[in-house]
Amino acid sequence: MNQDQLKIPHATAKRLPLYYRFLKNLSSSGKQRVSSAELSEAVKVDSATIRRDFSYFGALGKKGYGYNVNYLLSFFRKTLNQDETTTVALIGVGNLGTAFLHYNFTKNNNTKIEVAFDVDESKIGTEIAGVPIYHTNDIESELEKRGIDVAILTVPVGAAQPIADQLERAGVKGILNFTPARLTLSSEIRVHHIDLAVELQSLVYFMKNYS
Ligand code: ATP
Repeated sequence: MNQDQLKIPHATAKRLPLYYRFLKNLSSSGKQRVSSAELSEAVKVDSATIRRDFSYFGALGKKGYGYNVNYLLSFFRKTLNQDETTTVALIGVGNLGTAFLHYNFTKNNNTKIEVAFDVDESKIGTEIAGVPIYHTNDIESELEKRGIDVAILTVPVGAAQPIADQLERAGVKGILNFTPARLTLSSEIRVHHIDLAVELQSLVYFMKNYS
């Protein structure tokens, strides 16, 4: 993302992929315009929020017309770097990691897991869904060679911090952390944390207490 987009609030930025996915579907079904009400219904974000979000990127819908789908789409494609594929590394080829290797991320966005790492000798040197698996000792050299600066972390909790330190040394700038570990890293590295067990527990809690 360029400098101008740094001014977009975090909450808005987080909704961009959601908008992008929906607009892509609209465009491929031949639709040329969309109202904020339609968008709102589809992505489950209220239309005032959508209008405010879109105003940050200068996309002003016209009354009675709505938004031009292709204009928005090309804007999102650029903003989300969809013109080029972002390659990603995955560390920890266990059950979750293996599922990610099989999952076709490029169906909805242009990210692709290009290489994976593990310490289990029976996995090293093999491929899963066409993705080669290397020893974690090779993280620095492989990431540098491939120009990768994004990583998905699916190692056991105890291995998370040392592997994250290694990723930092390898020049990684973004980590999607699926382990329960809270990582301590330089503030220049963006870490998004997804703890599936906590998410599930919190869903059940909210169902019981707030429904
Ligand atoms: P599995 O059934 O293959 O063991 P799992 O998801 O239940 O999968 P975990 O113990 O969470 O197993 O380990 C996930 C993966 O991380 C495994 O493939 C394991 O070999 C790998 N792993 C363990 N320690 C490290 C480490 N220090 N660095 C990288 N990968 C590691």
